[in-house]
Amino acid sequence: MRAAAAQDGIVLLPLSGFRSVARQTVLIRAKLAAGQSLESILQLVAAPGFSEHHTGYALDIGSPEDMRLAEKFDRTAAFRWLRRQAGKFGFRLTFPRVNPHGIAFEPWHWCWHAGAA
Ligand SMILES: [Zn+2]
Repeated sequence: MRAAAAQDGIVLLPLSGFRSVARQTVLIRAKLAAGQSLESILQLVAAPGFSEHHTGYALDIGSPEDMRLAEKFDRTAAFRWLRRQAGKFGFRLTFPRVNPHGIAFEPWHWCWHAGAA
């Protein structure tokens, strides 16, 4: 998929992929230690054991225009390209603006599904 994007002049940067349950716990503990409430944290980060990143099929993708995994990634050319093309490679946007998971819009988070292409 990265090569196909490059042919269209789009640079896709894989920023985060596989993440263990232990790593997920560390991420959440760090946010709690920084004073965030568990409720607000869980709107952005799945509870340990529930993240698609544990499967190894999820990818957080950035572009040189925006590498911060922020909502404004949806305004980049890379996101527009992913919207049009990622499905051909079996990748789906897990958390669109309105989703049944109660997770905030994550334009950077794409997950590969067998047979989705
Ligand atoms: Zn993600």
